[in-house]
Amino acid sequence: MKRIAVLLLAAALMLSAAGCGREKSASVQFFSMDTIMEITVYGKGAQKAADAARAEIESLDAMFSVSGTGSDIRKVNESGGGAVSEECALLVSRALELGADTGGAFDITLLPVIDAWGFHTDDPAVPDPAALADAMTRTGIGAVTVSGDMITFAKDGMGIDMGAVAKGYAAGKAAETLKKAGITSALITLGGNVRTVGAKPDGSRWRVAVQSPFDGDDYICVVSVEDCAVVTSGGYQRYFEQDGNTYHHIIDPETGYPADSGVVSATIVCGDDALADAFSTAVYVMGAERAQRLWREYDRSFDMIIVLRDGSVLVTEGIMPFVEAPGVAVTEIKR
Ligand code: ADP
Ligand code: MG
Repeated sequence: MKRIAVLLLAAALMLSAAGCGREKSASVQFFSMDTIMEITVYGKGAQKAADAARAEIESLDAMFSVSGTGSDIRKVNESGGGAVSEECALLVSRALELGADTGGAFDITLLPVIDAWGFHTDDPAVPDPAALADAMTRTGIGAVTVSGDMITFAKDGMGIDMGAVAKGYAAGKAAETLKKAGITSALITLGGNVRTVGAKPDGSRWRVAVQSPFDGDDYICVVSVEDCAVVTSGGYQRYFEQDGNTYHHIIDPETGYPADSGVVSATIVCGDDALADAFSTAVYVMGAERAQRLWREYDRSFDMIIVLRDGSVLVTEGIMPFVEAPGVAVTEIKR
């Protein structure tokens, strides 16, 4: 028996849009990048700005989708390399850098492995060991070169999957679009990726709930933020079951199997949307020890909320004052 479960709007539910009722100006809901999205914009010109932000996200989906006909990424994967748009080349190049920064935990070249598992199909299954081993030989961020708008693969049968970074990047671009339109308060929810623009219309911080990895109807904590991304990765969002085991969609590049690091949910809070998305996936793969080392040594600042298998939570000092987690054992991560 196999089952794919996709929990849409998974990791984050908003608690506190209430109270801004009168100022709420426009909200658009749509389906893109394989998830339900919602953009809520406050203030003058809200509807037009929200529509423009939605259009921005849809054009990025068309560029980065692995399956969309005509997508830059699909073209490059099918042709074994080639020219892409400048924006696509820039994000692929950035994603390779972020991959190196995470010691390879974030790896956009896992496509052959993800395909061996069938994660992009309606019928995923545990791959045959030989097929998985073969797929593993066709990965590696060091085997991809981006030069200008040209992407080159060093091995045959390689491919790129931007699934762990494109939503974050798109949220950041949508936020930019809103700001260019003069918007100073908005909330962008792309599945488990939240992006806040400014503060709430009343000037207070947005309160973003982090979904409980143990109970889809509950949240484990709430973080109060403004003008930044809050991105959560967890194995409870997309998975299938086979022979009584559960297999989720975040792969450990070292094993080719779903990551099993002891981290059951990883949230990154930071102003850099692509980094937040890439690192949430990476922290889930790396585990708490490696993640803390990365947090201390990295030259760019970001914050993390890590939920461990035993239900305890680790929070970095930068956001510690802004996290409410009633009834949960929280440990502060210090510099
Ligand atoms: P989601 O897209 O569900 O919010 P993530 O941002 O963690 O979650 O991205 C997971 C997706 O990224 C997977 O569906 C797969 O396409 C791809 N992926 C899986 N493992 C990795 C990895 N270690 N590094 C980069 N991308 C990955
Ligand atoms: Mg991610």
